[in-house]
Amino acid sequence: MASFKQGSGKRVAVVGGGVIGCLTALYLHRLGAKPIILEKGNAGRESSWAGAGILCPIHPWLYPDSFTHLVDTSLSMFPEMNAMLEEQSGLKTEWQSCGLMIPMFADDRIHHREDALAWSERFGWKVEELDSRQTCEFESTMSSQVEGSLLWPEVGQVRNPRLLAAVKQALANAQVPIREQAEVIAVGKNGMGDVSSVELAGGETIEVDAVLLAAGSWSGEFARQIGLELPVEPVKGQVVLLKDEPGKVKHIIKHDDVYLVPRIDGHILVGASMERVGFQPGTTESVVNNLLEATYRITPGLKDAEVIEQWMGFRPGSPDGMPYLGPVDGHPGLFVATGHYRNGVALAPGTADIMSRWILGEAPSIDLSDFRVNRPVVSLDKVGFPAGA
Ligand SMILES: Cc1cc2nc3c(=O)[nH]c(=O)nc-3n(C[C@H](O)[C@H](O)[C@H](O)COP(=O)(O)OP(=O)(O)OC[C@H]3O[C@@H](n4cnc5c(N)ncnc54)[C@H](O)[C@@H]3O)c2cc1C
Repeated sequence: MASFKQGSGKRVAVVGGGVIGCLTALYLHRLGAKPIILEKGNAGRESSWAGAGILCPIHPWLYPDSFTHLVDTSLSMFPEMNAMLEEQSGLKTEWQSCGLMIPMFADDRIHHREDALAWSERFGWKVEELDSRQTCEFESTMSSQVEGSLLWPEVGQVRNPRLLAAVKQALANAQVPIREQAEVIAVGKNGMGDVSSVELAGGETIEVDAVLLAAGSWSGEFARQIGLELPVEPVKGQVVLLKDEPGKVKHIIKHDDVYLVPRIDGHILVGASMERVGFQPGTTESVVNNLLEATYRITPGLKDAEVIEQWMGFRPGSPDGMPYLGPVDGHPGLFVATGHYRNGVALAPGTADIMSRWILGEAPSIDLSDFRVNRPVVSLDKVGFPAGA
């Protein structure tokens, strides 16, 4: 890949310095292009920093098959991406395969078993069914009320802030410019109607050959400013961080109202609310208490875990839960990679690989029509937007 120089010199403005923008810029650089990342705040501090880093969609069986194909494509690129990042940055991302468990209780709100098993078999995801005793042996903090569980032993996770630190360091070492506090407010075109510049708040204009819109939750707003309809909206997620002995929780545990993601050093990330409240910042006591109550109900063995802190992030939501990827009709040179909603980290290497090549003229090798920018707005129950406040 490193010798692939199709993009020699093409100047690409990447609007947004989250995992999608930063990683795509790094891949553009590898292909010989000249990306510049323009970030209105600090790069890698929004959703990409806040998320849980689970490398499997929450309930993937609820999405169209094309989504699983995209997920599988992206996950297959993790080993290469991680090795490249760790080598180029000298930092560890804490990418690991820890497995994901869905415990089952008599009063569950969501019943997954049949759909989950059928989806796993169809797409070749290894899954095991455990009875109550085995579940408690695998996870010692689990409630004895558990009736059994499904376990995907190969599901992985990555620690978001470390992933972002590695991507940013790799960009810095490759001398890819990241301009922070640089809000893009407009996209300029030349006499032929091709994208030719971006304008920053403050008046500076930067000449480019292409623009990638990767502005996360702000992408819908930004698109409207340039006359484009893109139904991307923030979906707020609150998270609580616990600390216990390393290894006390072994797998990612996902249940109706909560998931637990155990980090290597004993931190356990408890997530996450789904709130359609616009860009309302801050955490709320009631949501944090709900997350903790759900945790203690499912895994009472964590009652003594220390509560360290809480935070929130804005997921770039889309009505059908799926990202928007590709060029924009009527705007030659403008590309979009956004709306990754609950799955932007899992989809990051696939997105970066596909989009970097696409921007440089290489059509994707998998069918991405379900992710096209001008697709009809279809609201998908359970994976699309939650009900408003
Ligand atoms: C609580 C929570 C849990 C999650 N859990 C998971 C998970 O387990 N697995 C998973 O795969 N995903 C998860 N996600 C989702 C994932 O984090 C996102 O899909 C992903 O980070 C989106 O990346 P992004 O780069 O598109 O957006 P962001 O990280 O939000 O980055 C967008 C950037 O664009 C910048 N920007 C916006 N407008 C402009 C402008 N006009 N000019 C310049 N810059 C601009 C913003 O400041 C921001 O830094 C979770 C998210 C949250 C909040």
